[in-house]
Amino acid sequence: MSLRMIRTGLLIDGHGGKPRQNVTIHLGEGRITAIEEGHRDSQGLDARNMTVLPGLIDTHVHLHMDPLLPWTTGNQDREEILILKAASFMQEALATGVTTMRDCGNTGVVPFILRDVIERGIIPGPRLLISGPPITTTAGHCYYFGLEADGEIEIRKAVRALVKGGVDFIKIMATGGNLTPGSNPRRAQYSLGELKAAVDDAHRLGRRVAAHALATEGILDCALAGVDTIEHCAWFEEGGTFRYDERAVELMVEKGIYVNPCFPAMYQFLSRQPMDVQERERIKEGRLELLRRAYQQGVKMIAGTDGGCPQVGFDLLPLGVRLLNEYLGVSPMEALQGATKHAAEALDLTDVGTIAPGNKADILIVEGNPLEDWQALERPVWVIKDGRILWEKGG
Ligand SMILES: [Zn+2]
Repeated sequence: MSLRMIRTGLLIDGHGGKPRQNVTIHLGEGRITAIEEGHRDSQGLDARNMTVLPGLIDTHVHLHMDPLLPWTTGNQDREEILILKAASFMQEALATGVTTMRDCGNTGVVPFILRDVIERGIIPGPRLLISGPPITTTAGHCYYFGLEADGEIEIRKAVRALVKGGVDFIKIMATGGNLTPGSNPRRAQYSLGELKAAVDDAHRLGRRVAAHALATEGILDCALAGVDTIEHCAWFEEGGTFRYDERAVELMVEKGIYVNPCFPAMYQFLSRQPMDVQERERIKEGRLELLRRAYQQGVKMIAGTDGGCPQVGFDLLPLGVRLLNEYLGVSPMEALQGATKHAAEALDLTDVGTIAPGNKADILIVEGNPLEDWQALERPVWVIKDGRILWEKGG
């Protein structure tokens, strides 16, 4: 059933201004049609004792990976099972208020089928943006997802083939990754020329580029090439150290490149590593100190979980938002924008991420005020997408 009206208590509309109290949101055809002060009517959804905010956007998941299984380079379940598992992962995300998800690298037909069945309303789930398999070097990070491309010609061909296949954006692995034995997370795996070729062709075809980059040399190349989001941005240097790059950060600010630190993944990865407490703290702080500096220099941070990685559940976006605040000192309002307005901007989505007339009616309603207490984000009551309740507490 489509909703016509929501009566709110606190309204955090995503724009970053002072929250409003007691407004009525009018809905029609799955969109927000008007917002008026007060509650003139006694009809519609009664959220007068609750906080209403935009549906959340998880900017980084892998729906074909099972967080409870070890990350593997092969021997996956067959596709039918992967699809059913992914459908249940999407329910977990929905229950935490996620109404949009960006799948940052997947295999085969899984993401295409998922996007299709959700768009057609066959199963409920967040709206899905997909990249298909990530572009990587031969034996590079996530090569086992199935798309290796070396040299500018192969990369351009890969971008064109992905766009032909119907992807929403391009994911490219600019550096090695922790989860791919034999790749080097502390070095770039593509040259600047290769990254530029990917970005040039993707942008020509109207697709954004998300780049996985752990190593500083790869981060700089991503910034020079003009990718749209840098995933992880770990500032890794050879020898187990960290290195900041001033020029890379200046370029990120100048070009409006978003950084997605994927904190839930970092949090879980570090807690799983067999190492003493001091070493874990050194690694964590090494990375956080430099990310904090980048944030203070003006880089916009967005929230994503990397759901699907080992122990990274699809219900961890509230943690991702909270850690932007706790780890980087981002204000609670801006941390929320990292999963709403800023996330939408990073993904080039113009009609989600804020509660405003004309936008899609993607709305999260929670008990309590997340600006004062992050636990409120763990207490959803209703999750609404396109004006329909897709999840409700106790439902
Ligand atoms: Zn990932």
